[in-house]
Amino acid sequence: MSIDIDFDLHHLWHPYTSARNPLPCYAVESATGTTIRLADGRELIDGMSSWWAAIHGYNHPKINAAARRQIDKMSHVMFGGLTHEPAVELGKRLLNILHGQEWIFYSDSGSVAVEVALKMALQYQRAAGRPERVQFATIRSGYHGDTWHAMSVCDPETGMHHIFSAQLPIQHFVPSPKIPFGGEWDESDLDAMRQLIENHGDKLAAVVLEPIVQGAGGMRFYHHKYLQGVAKMCRENGILLIADEIATGFGRTGKLFACEHAGVTPDIVTIGKALTAGYMSFAATLCTDLIAKQISDGEPSVFMHGPTFMGNPLACAVACASIDLLLSQPWQEKVGNIERVMREELSELADCENVKDVRVLGAIGVVEMKKAVDVAAIQKIFVDNGVWIRPFGKLVYIMPQFVITEDQLRRLCAGLKAGVLNS
Ligand code: PMP
Repeated sequence: MSIDIDFDLHHLWHPYTSARNPLPCYAVESATGTTIRLADGRELIDGMSSWWAAIHGYNHPKINAAARRQIDKMSHVMFGGLTHEPAVELGKRLLNILHGQEWIFYSDSGSVAVEVALKMALQYQRAAGRPERVQFATIRSGYHGDTWHAMSVCDPETGMHHIFSAQLPIQHFVPSPKIPFGGEWDESDLDAMRQLIENHGDKLAAVVLEPIVQGAGGMRFYHHKYLQGVAKMCRENGILLIADEIATGFGRTGKLFACEHAGVTPDIVTIGKALTAGYMSFAATLCTDLIAKQISDGEPSVFMHGPTFMGNPLACAVACASIDLLLSQPWQEKVGNIERVMREELSELADCENVKDVRVLGAIGVVEMKKAVDVAAIQKIFVDNGVWIRPFGKLVYIMPQFVITEDQLRRLCAGLKAGVLNS
């Protein structure tokens, strides 16, 4: 099979790349299970789940069958004034697993789901008679997407959006929590958030954060008591809590949703990525009944958003199949095994001269280097070792599919170690 890589290099933007000096790209012919097959015949064990999404592996027969069944009925109809079985069925499944949430807004991508969440918070505060609450607070090292307001609550440095900072709405940032997940808790970790709320709480519509695991902004795991503390402070001060579960949702951290580590029910939750098992772009924003009803009691009495592909039936059918598949198997045991093997395999890297830290939580394994890696060079080592790993900055990390076998996972870790030791 021949893919015109030259056309790609000269005309297609890839994420965060240059048109003058694009990073090398590997052409993929197909992908099945945990294997990515390159056009030149090489096979790679996937370590990325296509950015947290492909939890069941590629080309899964049950999800393929659900997509085929749906495409033969209709792949899309507008959601304005129409509804359909996949949207309703998915809604029922989501409310079963996201306790405390009552209303669901379907959208096309994670960033849009975050925009929707922020708009919900603003409309809620306005409807509740607090129109002056128009600002958001968040913690540093967070990442919430690439669209405008989602970008405004990303860490200005690691979020890669600092060049726009003069134009972005000003939000409030507190230092990221210091105490790691499983570490010894100290209340002083909450001081900065407490101070911020004391100083600016009456202007805050919501605090938005990634629960427990901060993803693309730093791959950090923080203490569950931090999340509990923030939730309590928000509740006491009329500030909504938006939990961005787009990366953490659907089992990745060892719980179905990361808020469960802290027993916290947020006012608004965003989900995406693994919602469709990596098949297509789709996301949702959920909120409690209180938020939905308050918005609807206010002016203009409707929620002001409605994308063209809202509630896309094909995506809803795929999402239903993915959730059914996840819940029909001992996924927690699988994630636990992945965690155990990654700990065993990766911990030795902590002693390497070029490594700052090694951390593992659920099916997420992170090696933080002392210096930013040369992506093109280290990626060649990974591919030569038969694995697909895509680092960014100082972070070399894997988030394997839940279907990975122990042998494949050990080979994946061996490939990771080869890259880290030789770069
Ligand atoms: N929130 C989080 C926590 C994310 O990790 C991402 C994507 N990396 C987004 C939002 C944005 O999602 P999308 O790329 O689908 O717009």
